[in-house]
Amino acid sequence: MTRQISERAAPSTALLGAGRSGNTVAQPIRRASTLLFDTVADLDRAKAARFDKGTEFYGRFGTRDVFAFEEAVSVLEGAEASLAVPSGLAACVLPFVAFVKPGDHVLIADTAYEPARTSFVQYIARNNVEVEFYDPTIGAEISELIRPETRLIYLESPGSMTFEVQDIPAIAAAARARGVMTVCDNTWATGYFCRPLALGADISVQAATKYIVGHSDAMLGTLSVADTELLTPLRQAANWLGYHVSPDDVFLAARGLRTLPARLELHRTGALEVASWMESRPGIRRVIHPGLSSHSGHALWKRDFTGSTGLFAAVLDITDRAQAVRFVEALRHFGLGFSWGGFESLTLLGDPSGARTATRWTETGTLCRFHIGLEAVADLIGDLDQALASAGLGETVAA
Ligand SMILES: *Cc1c(COP(=O)(O)O)cnc(C)c1O
Repeated sequence: MTRQISERAAPSTALLGAGRSGNTVAQPIRRASTLLFDTVADLDRAKAARFDKGTEFYGRFGTRDVFAFEEAVSVLEGAEASLAVPSGLAACVLPFVAFVKPGDHVLIADTAYEPARTSFVQYIARNNVEVEFYDPTIGAEISELIRPETRLIYLESPGSMTFEVQDIPAIAAAARARGVMTVCDNTWATGYFCRPLALGADISVQAATKYIVGHSDAMLGTLSVADTELLTPLRQAANWLGYHVSPDDVFLAARGLRTLPARLELHRTGALEVASWMESRPGIRRVIHPGLSSHSGHALWKRDFTGSTGLFAAVLDITDRAQAVRFVEALRHFGLGFSWGGFESLTLLGDPSGARTATRWTETGTLCRFHIGLEAVADLIGDLDQALASAGLGETVAA
């Protein structure tokens, strides 16, 4: 009883049926370590094909429910195949484990997710891999940094702290011309608003923890590929590391995926409204949101993305840490925490200057990141307004 989805269906329609089979609307939860085989020949066949797409062999390699979720992620990303791993960070690092060897050189966007950056510097580089950071806005000039031993170029667009938009097609084309693989962290846009694979990237990774799960209650990562040849090495590397994804977490992610387009639409409009309001609010020096025409990467964003999500930043007219703390702690509707993509609004004070080497962060004001959740926008604006006022930044203008 596999649901047949028309090839021409809109992504929001296609996602409702993607990967579904059987007679339940919900994704089943099948808990398994041991999987049983009828015959020795069946077992041998499964063992030989254990790294291939869709083979049930042993619980650690996944069951048909995990494969169903992976199939749905492929619909989201416009991919041939996808792989689920235990966290977003695991997804960011896995291509390096699968494809990068001692003596290789890799290029990393200077704005990459900070914990991934730490893994590349402290773990990947340990294996005699040269890790070099590049200006994320470099575009086609990335060619000048590619060497004979360059194996992989890593992108994240936009960066999840300071929102630089990368020219994915230009970088992917330059890499492809020299036989270099590209990996793009697509967590901000999800496949719903941007498809790095269609723009030329080889692997699109997501922290499914964020928008796919969508309710801040599970952690999961995904890798999607346009060329199925890349899947087997990734599955092999996941096995070397002993990765396994829990069927309960996959259930939550599959459930989140069905409502992703509807939720993203609210995150999109809410964040744009709040960001626009902030642009005219005294006390705010600069709003950094790729969907605003004031953003330096707005034209690229418009060309390559079909929408924006709930995460953006603002530079507040605050240079004093205590004043910044007063602002954040005066907020009532914004939680203080890291993992955005859930239904609630969040905020975080950031200082990018310590986490980049190829570029410089020169803003003197305080960088504050916001995730706009599913609350009524008027409540969020009223809250921001009162918190800015209570930190001494202008008069309250909203009721
Ligand atoms: C959160 C995040 C990750 C890591 O995801 P986890 O599931 O927390 O490991 C990777 N990339 C980006 C852009 C993220 O925001």
